[in-house]
Amino acid sequence: MIEKALSVLQRYFGYTQFRDGQQKVIDSLLRGTDTLAIMPTGAGKSLAYQIPALLFQGTTLVISPLISLMKDQVDALLQYGVPATFINSSLSLKEVRSRIERAARGEFKLLYIAPERLESESFRGLLETLQVSFLAIDEAHCVSQWGHDFRPSYLQLGPFLKSFRHKPLIGAFTATATEEVQADIVRLLELNNPRAFVTGFDRPNLTFSSLRGENKKIFVLEYAKSHIDQAGIIYAGTRKEVDNLQVFLTKNGLKAGKYHAGMNDEERQKSQEDFLFDEKTVMVATNAFGMGIDKSNVRYVIHYNMPKNMEAYYQEAGRAGRDGEPGECILLFSPQDVVLQRYLIEQTIFQPERKMNELKKLQGMVDYCHTPRCLRKTILEYFGEENIQEECANCSNCNDEREMVDITVEAQKIISCIYRMRERFGIGMVAEVLKGSRKAKILELRFDELSTHGIMHEVPLQEIKDRINFLVAEGYLQLSNGEYPVVKLQPNAVSVIKGEAKVTQKVSHQPSREDAVEVNLFDRLRVLRRKIALRENLPPYMIFADSTLRELAQVFPTNHLAMIRISGVGERKLEKYGDDFLEEIRNYIVEMKNKATPLPNRSLIGFQKDIPQSQIDTQRNVPTASTRSQRIHSSAKASTDKVLSHQQTFILYQEGYSLEEIARVRNITALTVQQHLLRCSLDGQVIPWDDFIPSEQESLILEALRRVGGEKLRPIKELLPDVVEWFTIQAVIEKYRTLGMEK
Ligand code: ADP
Repeated sequence: MIEKALSVLQRYFGYTQFRDGQQKVIDSLLRGTDTLAIMPTGAGKSLAYQIPALLFQGTTLVISPLISLMKDQVDALLQYGVPATFINSSLSLKEVRSRIERAARGEFKLLYIAPERLESESFRGLLETLQVSFLAIDEAHCVSQWGHDFRPSYLQLGPFLKSFRHKPLIGAFTATATEEVQADIVRLLELNNPRAFVTGFDRPNLTFSSLRGENKKIFVLEYAKSHIDQAGIIYAGTRKEVDNLQVFLTKNGLKAGKYHAGMNDEERQKSQEDFLFDEKTVMVATNAFGMGIDKSNVRYVIHYNMPKNMEAYYQEAGRAGRDGEPGECILLFSPQDVVLQRYLIEQTIFQPERKMNELKKLQGMVDYCHTPRCLRKTILEYFGEENIQEECANCSNCNDEREMVDITVEAQKIISCIYRMRERFGIGMVAEVLKGSRKAKILELRFDELSTHGIMHEVPLQEIKDRINFLVAEGYLQLSNGEYPVVKLQPNAVSVIKGEAKVTQKVSHQPSREDAVEVNLFDRLRVLRRKIALRENLPPYMIFADSTLRELAQVFPTNHLAMIRISGVGERKLEKYGDDFLEEIRNYIVEMKNKATPLPNRSLIGFQKDIPQSQIDTQRNVPTASTRSQRIHSSAKASTDKVLSHQQTFILYQEGYSLEEIARVRNITALTVQQHLLRCSLDGQVIPWDDFIPSEQESLILEALRRVGGEKLRPIKELLPDVVEWFTIQAVIEKYRTLGMEK
């Protein structure tokens, strides 16, 4: 039976094998067993019911909570050549009837329905004309009040199921469900001897980071800039925060959209589409955004505020990298988030048992933000997995290479200031006093007379606030509850003041921008995909997923036979788009061959394999910033499709661009351009060094080299007049090194 399913997978969807868990769920359904599938976001739930639907007689009903999700799924299915449609409140009664009639004639294999529709008796009557063999319930956790997303309309499902003369097979699907929720699903949907499958919650392609004490706004800006052509979601806690952040990012040149429940339907729809169609690359949103979104090429999800529990966090973060390509999930913690979430629970949940439950979950989230252990392990354990390896090597705790800085003196200044202000003020006020503000209120309270007034005047105000936040996050300080939290000292602050304890903070490097601007086949295919998407009025990822483009860019198929082997290319898509993509690939190969340098046996395509940067750098002492983001980029670079950044620089130089122009065009610094050339030279590329060496300086530099040797640059530079640049010295050294090699 599973062989049939596999052939449907290959024929329609173009994938060669099932993912972990998918096969078990499909197998169970094909055997006619009611099935509960708990599969994390991105694991491929949809295929787990779409494939049985294609194999069963009659029509499969899919209950799905959001109108936008339905349309999206149906559009995607039509793209694959699967006959499907949906029924929701956006259709006229006439249209509803017509779709049901067509379904009854067997024109659709899948019919998506919003749960609200089931409330109407006449609609249920209409459905009776269908031969329904299978009912798939998406987001099944919505049926449970214990879940984080209870929807009363899901309770309609019970009575609806009773109305069938022959109860159809049921598949219930959800991304997260605690044991209570699982029990509710089984009970309320009256699953008959069900089998439950909990697919591994791990999403190995996602990198998890939890950062404390960052300047969030600047972090987000820098991050989004350095990933400028990638799609990302930034979740913020409140509508106001969303509004502010979106304006801030837009002002700084980013294509940022926003989404929250305070916008009207039309605005939200437009904003969502802009994001799906890659018109906007950053989506700033509250948690209202996402359930309906199946965009598979979201490369990062940043939480600007801590969510209320791990279920919500993992579901939202899980929207990154659904296509299996690398995705980054960053949580920016600040202590106020805890205060806010606790306040919300206190204000909105009255039943003591549920309140306790929510507070416990909140604590789980706070622990995640503070743990020094592997983050992936922490998440997976929360969801009840066992035997997880200690370190995943792909989270901010396992890979923490940030610099440890001693901030004891600053901490002492802050603590002593809070003490002198009698622990009665918030972070803003304390920071102002440390900065030395002479605002009316400060003078009025005579804080300008404190010995700590202005004691940190040289530090930017925001940085002082960041430090205070950090001390709260580390438990030296505490914020009181309530609307205006006050900073209080904690017992261990005393040992800091007494000089008995040291305070250290890891300082992160800002992500580098350089890697974001590589021109390669993948990017070109993306541009082509966008063009086709506009033509067809579809979101780009529905043409092909990022993972498919990446594979195309690695394999370079040049004919249909080679292309159908690529994962994600089925018969229908090959027919529709194959030629466009093949042509782009062929053009690329020709262009690269023409551009390839005259080096023997080394066409550019031939030497795309990334030479581990670390090796080169240690040999040659070329400085590199070992930023986390670079590591992520370099793992992406490990794929062989790229013309590496430094090679691209040299290609531009050969095309006649000056170094300044290259820096401008590529949005990198002049220094980076120079280093690219040096790196090309180390790769064995012949660089016309004389272009960069003023002839009158060459002999001076050679003379200096003779005196102090070429091991270190500084002693050489010190022997030379100031006009001689560092790069010129390096150019001379490289020139003679390579000449030496040739001899
Ligand atoms: P979920 O609903 O669980 O979040 P989806 O059904 O949207 O996940 O699937 C996520 C992505 O994975 C989609 O782009 C889908 O096409 C892809 N996918 C699903 N199954 C497979 C498979 N067996 N092989 C390769 N890709 C798959």
